[in-house]
Amino acid sequence: MNRINTRKVKVGSVFVGGDAPISVQSMTNTDTRNIKETISQINRLQNAGCEIVRCAVPDMEAAEALKYIIKEVTIPVVADIHFDYKLALNSIDYGVSALRINPGNIGSIERVKMVAERAKDKKIPIRIGVNSGSLDKELLNKYGKVCPEALVESALKHVKILENTNFNDIVISIKSSNVLDMIESYRLISQKSDYPLHLGVTEAGTPWRGTIKSSIGIGTLISEGIGDTIRVSLTGDPVEEVKVGIEILKALQIKKQGIEIISCPTCGRTEIGLINIAKEVEEKIKDLDKNIKVAIMGCVVNGPGEAREADIGIAGGKGVGLIFKKGEMFKKVKEEDLVEELLKEINKM
Ligand code: SF4
Repeated sequence: MNRINTRKVKVGSVFVGGDAPISVQSMTNTDTRNIKETISQINRLQNAGCEIVRCAVPDMEAAEALKYIIKEVTIPVVADIHFDYKLALNSIDYGVSALRINPGNIGSIERVKMVAERAKDKKIPIRIGVNSGSLDKELLNKYGKVCPEALVESALKHVKILENTNFNDIVISIKSSNVLDMIESYRLISQKSDYPLHLGVTEAGTPWRGTIKSSIGIGTLISEGIGDTIRVSLTGDPVEEVKVGIEILKALQIKKQGIEIISCPTCGRTEIGLINIAKEVEEKIKDLDKNIKVAIMGCVVNGPGEAREADIGIAGGKGVGLIFKKGEMFKKVKEEDLVEELLKEINKM
């Protein structure tokens, strides 16, 4: 798929936009003032593959906590700020790699200028984040409802405010909890602007529902070449957001990190306990850092074909399984030994 070209910005050590790889980000849900817990969560996020992390900055204490947090973590930290320009200025001074703030919400143009100048000085980008839940009243009255046109107009209004201060190091997000509105909004803005786009479905829900909504929203846009960085929003442990984000990119063959597992849905032909085998293998290889494809198939109808296509795989039979490696039948093993034998071979790869 051809990616729509955008400008490139730098968030700490991570480039966003242009030809930079699409990055996966998340947001901590600890109290940012709790430095120890926030550092620990950022480390867990990083271990899961998170490349940029955002922390809420509701007050000065949280802004100051960032100073200590940033020293202890190695991925770029973005300060998420609403309304208070002083929190933005302090967060910049404390070393954040980017700000998420909407210039139209911080008051006078002098305040916007101060934030923009300080960000420019430190070479950090500002993400404008428009959200379906907080569309300004003027646009709500103009369009009569929250809709893609209104969201895009709102984002471009914020962009203009920053551009008027000569600031162009901008990333845009337009998030909606309505997946169709989200998709349409990003399509629209990608025709009107070339700033890099941060994709996400906001308030997507619990991991089960939120994964589906995010996969459709983010996946559709990325498959059209739209989007430079992604954040999956889930009600739960943010580590799950990162895992889902990475899987979306892997499904679109954009990220090739880690082991890819394909497994069949099972059917009336399955004669081994494939569901449990697949779950066990998935759990046991989740932390392995290998670029291989593993096929876990229930029978000899489609099984051998898929297993051969993968780097390694199994095809189940009655109480037994065939292990395939690099396209060749390798071994026949008893069902109870299948997982262990498969893992042994994966570990050798
Ligand atoms: Fe059924 Fe075999 Fe296909 Fe699995 S691979 S769904 S067991 S036909």
